[in-house]
Amino acid sequence: MPDCLASLEARRAGILRAIGGLGDLRAGSITSTGGRCGNPGCHCHRPGDPGHGPYYRLTRKVKGKTVTETFATEVERRKAQGEVDEYHRFQQLARQLVAVSEQICRLRPVQPSWSPEEKDGGRGPVTSLDHQCMRAGASERRSK
Ligand SMILES: [Zn+2]
Repeated sequence: MPDCLASLEARRAGILRAIGGLGDLRAGSITSTGGRCGNPGCHCHRPGDPGHGPYYRLTRKVKGKTVTETFATEVERRKAQGEVDEYHRFQQLARQLVAVSEQICRLRPVQPSWSPEEKDGGRGPVTSLDHQCMRAGASERRSK
């Protein structure tokens, strides 16, 4: 079925409401580690031993570097898991928001007051809008 502008806008409003209803969220992902350690005399190397852990840690990227956080208790771990899940919901909603908004952008009619030069990328004669921008303090100078 073809989407009209009104139904797309309604969907976007629903996504924004869902984003507004999100709880505490944090970036990253939680992975578990454990198993056998490096000490061959340790119990974990005996047959049938479940090994160590599992230990959980949260990793996330901060300015390109991976930051790791460990949890002292199971309660802490579960709290963090909920926050990370919420973050993933946020990411999903954000992707949906962009997708719906892009459709809206395509369907939204061009305002009749816009000049054809602006539609071609604004390389035409200087318009009243450009004058406003320059008055607002744009430092860029336009060569004629
Ligand atoms: Zn061990």
